[in-house]
Amino acid sequence: ILIPQNEAAQTPLMRQYWAAKRQHHDALLFFRMGDFYELFYEDAKVASRELQITLTARDREKTQPMCGMPYHSAESYITRLLRKGYRIAICEQMEDPKLTKKIVRRDVIRVLTPGTAIDPALGSSENNYLAAVHVAGGMVGLAYLDLSTGDFRATEFSGATALLQCADELQKLGPTEVLASASNPLLSESKELAEALGRARTKTSVDDWAFTTDYAIPLLERQMGTMSLEGFGLAQHRAAAVAAGVVIHYVRQTQQNDAGHVDAIRYYERSQHMHLDQVTVRNLELLDPIFTDAGTEATLFRTLDCLMTPMGKRLLRSSLLRPLLEAADIQQRYDAVAEAKQNLIQREQLRRSLGGILDLERLLARISLDSAGPRDVLAMAASLKHLPQLCRDVAMLAAELWRGAYARLDTLEDLCAAITKTLVAEPPLTLADGGVIAAGVNKELDELRDISHSGRSSIAAIEERERQRTGIQSLKVRFNSVFGYYIEITKSNLAHAPADYERKQTLVNAERFTTPELKEYETKVLTAHERSIDIEKQIFAELRRQLMENSGRIRKTSAVVAEIDLLANFAHLASLRNYTQPQLESSPVLEIAAGRHPVIECLMEEAGEGRFIPNHLYLDSEGPSLLLLTGPNMGGKSTYLRQAALLAIMAQIGCFVPAERMRYGIVDRVYTRIGASDNVARGRSTFMVEMMETATILNTATSQSLILLDEMGRGTSTFDGLALAWATVEYLHARVGARTLFATHYHELTILAEQLTKLKNLRVAVKESPQGIVFLHSIEEGPANKSYGIDVARLAGLPPQVIQRARQVLKQHERAERMNVAVETEAPLQMTMFTPLSQHVIDRLEETDINSLTPLQALNLLEELKAEI
Ligand code: ADP
Repeated sequence: ILIPQNEAAQTPLMRQYWAAKRQHHDALLFFRMGDFYELFYEDAKVASRELQITLTARDREKTQPMCGMPYHSAESYITRLLRKGYRIAICEQMEDPKLTKKIVRRDVIRVLTPGTAIDPALGSSENNYLAAVHVAGGMVGLAYLDLSTGDFRATEFSGATALLQCADELQKLGPTEVLASASNPLLSESKELAEALGRARTKTSVDDWAFTTDYAIPLLERQMGTMSLEGFGLAQHRAAAVAAGVVIHYVRQTQQNDAGHVDAIRYYERSQHMHLDQVTVRNLELLDPIFTDAGTEATLFRTLDCLMTPMGKRLLRSSLLRPLLEAADIQQRYDAVAEAKQNLIQREQLRRSLGGILDLERLLARISLDSAGPRDVLAMAASLKHLPQLCRDVAMLAAELWRGAYARLDTLEDLCAAITKTLVAEPPLTLADGGVIAAGVNKELDELRDISHSGRSSIAAIEERERQRTGIQSLKVRFNSVFGYYIEITKSNLAHAPADYERKQTLVNAERFTTPELKEYETKVLTAHERSIDIEKQIFAELRRQLMENSGRIRKTSAVVAEIDLLANFAHLASLRNYTQPQLESSPVLEIAAGRHPVIECLMEEAGEGRFIPNHLYLDSEGPSLLLLTGPNMGGKSTYLRQAALLAIMAQIGCFVPAERMRYGIVDRVYTRIGASDNVARGRSTFMVEMMETATILNTATSQSLILLDEMGRGTSTFDGLALAWATVEYLHARVGARTLFATHYHELTILAEQLTKLKNLRVAVKESPQGIVFLHSIEEGPANKSYGIDVARLAGLPPQVIQRARQVLKQHERAERMNVAVETEAPLQMTMFTPLSQHVIDRLEETDINSLTPLQALNLLEELKAEI
């Protein structure tokens, strides 16, 4: 960094500033000066721009730009800067200015970064992840931690596509900050990974030496308080363990705290869950809407979120990213949900108890990182208070998961009692002013408070007595932090001031005095007060220590609360919206009777826009395994496709589904190739992206997968697109055998049903009326008989002249290009599909009246036509 050489920059204070800045050159330095945080030079310019606060200067020549804010309102400014991706170093005064004659010592006590934020303004249903990626020996390790909740996970990828898989997982998680080695060349090998790293709001380089097994793994073990990582399933996964160690390294470095609540990590592999890649997560709008401008968030998460606790909300989010794969696990959830669905009273009672529980995980994190005030700790107790009732509620239910939750739910009454016993019922915001610790906790504290109290009432009595003695009715005894206690007499009454008053301070209109008696009480009151605050701080620290010793118990209980909330939520939804329990099958079938799209159904209901039309679906690897859906735009094709995937995902997180009946075999992965994506902005054509996504599907789908292909082949010429769609359908049918839904505007594809036995044509139903077409939104068997593009355009309000002209052009065009679709479906594939007949031949045929021809005339005509081809 460039340190200015001018005089102003060389004062002792600024030397101190630059010393701190040099160590934290990549952060905005918040430099504490009295009651303010000040920023200087470039930092000041950035902060004033980003926060819209006034930029001033410290010197007359204006060579030292500066801006600042009172320390007590800094939190909201800091939060805003973090959300914008900045790092912030907090440099505090380490000594009491009153106690030193020299310049006070200052140190950076914490570095705040976007990925380590723990402020209360974080969205309660989202995680704020700090991730680290480690590439070594053909393995890619990924670890990520939400410091604000203690949620810590790691995974590993191997093989040729390891970097690609890691990139996908990163994009799916959307971490706020990613740590990567400063100079590992392997990281830049994959364009996708580089891109994924670039997409995180903040990318932070960490020294290479931290990414070593010798350093990172022992550090992780120490954090977990274990000798080995065996218990976390990490012993055999060194790349993942190193990444996790680097996360811990970074947290300790920035927080200057051991983050005691981070005491467990979970290792997982993608194959343990239904695989949803980030394209699918986005296409299906599981968590975030693709277009946010509509005002309503049409996501599956929002639709399924009637959860009572923040922990439950976060569990639903992570479940949607990682649905279950084991039939037994899923069935257990169904059993629990079914039981709670039937027991209305039990369920409502459960949800009421859950409703009182605040964000235990985030409160614990704040306590652990020493950012919690008395009110945070009291909020913890207020939450814990509901646990015994919750436990009794769960005890009323018999399903296996409920019994498991009951057994694991620690009601933490000891901790709740410790807090409520120690703190007053309505504590002030901070410890600084005292009055946080309840009476009866500490004998010395009570005595000091008595002294302070009686001192204060003695002082109040002095005021009354002195008024009488001097006859000055306006005489006041007051206190300020600079002069302590004083007697104030207005100028006009000065003549009546007794001789024993000692002058302390002169104001414009008044004079302030003290007396030996007042001084004596002052000393008593002030020392008692200072001492009592010290004691309060000690007691509070002790309480914090006690809570941290039990942080593991609190975290486990939070996890159980989240599970209970999730199951109760599913039961609530099932009953509220008439969802039914899906039936698990061992064969790869997907049968939905009268299914509804969960999100659209809710939106329609909220808007009062009529009823969603239920539809049936039947897919089976034995056939039909591929449904080819045709029909006009706006008919409901995409809705039908997405609905199938959403129901499968809901079913596999243990939720009931909006259908009369559903039977399904476990889906190992959902693939989607849907409509336009935002990749164009990233320098690839829509068509290229579409083909890459299709390639992934054809290369990796299994017979257990569910594939949605919507409008494939749009990005290229009609014939290219049709040819590729054609070949893709054949390949899926012959080789992959996955349950597939294929929506297309290529009518030509529908004749494939004649050759491909497991392909079935479906169409969206429309009614043609003189006023135009009406979408019935129901799905029926058979191919659509025409394309209706012009009808839809008419509904959209194109001028009548344009519609009329389009009909004319279409007619001519259809004549000209009437195609002879003759395709061999066996390899080698012959592309002889489109041989347009001569228009003249067609015209001649159309104008011929066969009944009036003699056999000879007919033969002559035939010869003539043949000559024309
Ligand atoms: P397509 O993919 O055929 O162009 P969409 O699936 O986008 O059509 O659906 C068009 C519109 O029709 C959407 O606004 C959707 O909400 C509505 N819709 C689709 N299916 C149904 C249904 N079964 N019941 C009611 N409305 C539906």
